[in-house]
Amino acid sequence: MNILLLGSGGREHALAWKMAGSPLTGRLWCAPGNAGIAQEAECVALDLADHAAVIGFCKASGVDLVVVGPEAPLCAGIVDDLEAVGIRAFGPSKAAARLEGSKGFTKDLCRAHGIPTAAYERFTAPGPAKDYLRMQPVPIVVKADGLAAGKGVVVAMTLDEALAAVDDCFDGAFGAAGAEVVVEAFLDGEEASFFCLCDGVNALPLASAQDHKRVGDGDTGPNTGGMGAYSPAPVMTEAMTRRTMDEIVLPTVRAMKAMGAPYKGVLFAGLMIGADGPKLIEYNVRFGDPETQVLMLRMMSDLVPALVAARDGQLGSFDLRWYPDAAVTVVMAARGYPGAYEKGSVIAGLDRASAVEGVEIFHAGTRADDGRTLAAGGRVLNVCATGRNVTEAQARAYRAVQLIDWPGGFCRSDIGWQAIRREAARG
Ligand code: AMP
Repeated sequence: MNILLLGSGGREHALAWKMAGSPLTGRLWCAPGNAGIAQEAECVALDLADHAAVIGFCKASGVDLVVVGPEAPLCAGIVDDLEAVGIRAFGPSKAAARLEGSKGFTKDLCRAHGIPTAAYERFTAPGPAKDYLRMQPVPIVVKADGLAAGKGVVVAMTLDEALAAVDDCFDGAFGAAGAEVVVEAFLDGEEASFFCLCDGVNALPLASAQDHKRVGDGDTGPNTGGMGAYSPAPVMTEAMTRRTMDEIVLPTVRAMKAMGAPYKGVLFAGLMIGADGPKLIEYNVRFGDPETQVLMLRMMSDLVPALVAARDGQLGSFDLRWYPDAAVTVVMAARGYPGAYEKGSVIAGLDRASAVEGVEIFHAGTRADDGRTLAAGGRVLNVCATGRNVTEAQARAYRAVQLIDWPGGFCRSDIGWQAIRREAARG
């Protein structure tokens, strides 16, 4: 099969790496890709917002399957547009992508179907939102309804912070995404990322993972797109996985089908595991970044037939195998991230870092320049490693980090700490 992958981050590098290893893969392109992806796929300069250009490339190049990485093209209906002209595409339709594109849509779906999630209200004007906030306990969470590149969520510790967040949203800090606001109760517990492949009817769980959203060690400082991740997530026991499927994922898949928007693609449930079980924080309609990087390292089965089965509605009899090893990814970001940062600094030492046992380095934001690798984004590298447990995988990943010569970059030094603490307690 000739495959076109859409996206340019570490998630796409991991997907490209996995798909490039499949005997089913013929030619593999990635648009727009990055310097690391270029080692696995032919990078093509396509504007993902220009669906006609993507379709034109697919027709001219004989693409058999399009795999969509990021949420923006999914919410803009790229799968609908590709399928309408007979090009197979992995990912949800525009109507199904509302599970990520509108937090209010998802909250209403949860309420209608008894899916456990934080109590909430939706607002289209600041006055009523503030009146409601004044009656609620803190902490409380204020969210822009639409896509805000992971930035539209404020977990407010004080009423003033919450009120300011409402003003930010309605003042346009997140553009059209903030025209509606969801205010929801604060959930206590441990977070986990849970992924399923869905084919409209069936949902096949992938492995679990945990990511680290805060920029600083000890989970401190501002939120980011994710500074690292590890898999498996110890909090996702077999019983918790079962409950998540029965109480959250399967009711969602049934509800989407019933409303005429069957969900196909990866469903990524952000969960809070509390004393009374799993609650849905939010859905994403694509693979997580950086969780995908650790999932692909642990996946033993071929990814390509699984994606095709999800697209074709054939997951009912499908099975996936996983390596028992744990995996860790450490994100190296440009100094200043998630605030302002510089682009263009030179990264060296990637070859010797990749040679560390169990290590695989995925590129999140790089550019090749005359044989050199340059930083070209906020999150720049994903230094990943596998090991018998998270402790070993983490040690290998940081050994590789030490070998990378990039003065313009930084990383957290404690990725996987929750799992490592549990492993130490077990002895
Ligand atoms: P989201 O973009 O909705 O995943 O939110 C980003 C982060 O904010 C989550 O990963 C949580 O850490 C936090 N968060 C969101 N909603 C809640 C909530 N209701 N209670 C506690 N933390 C939350």
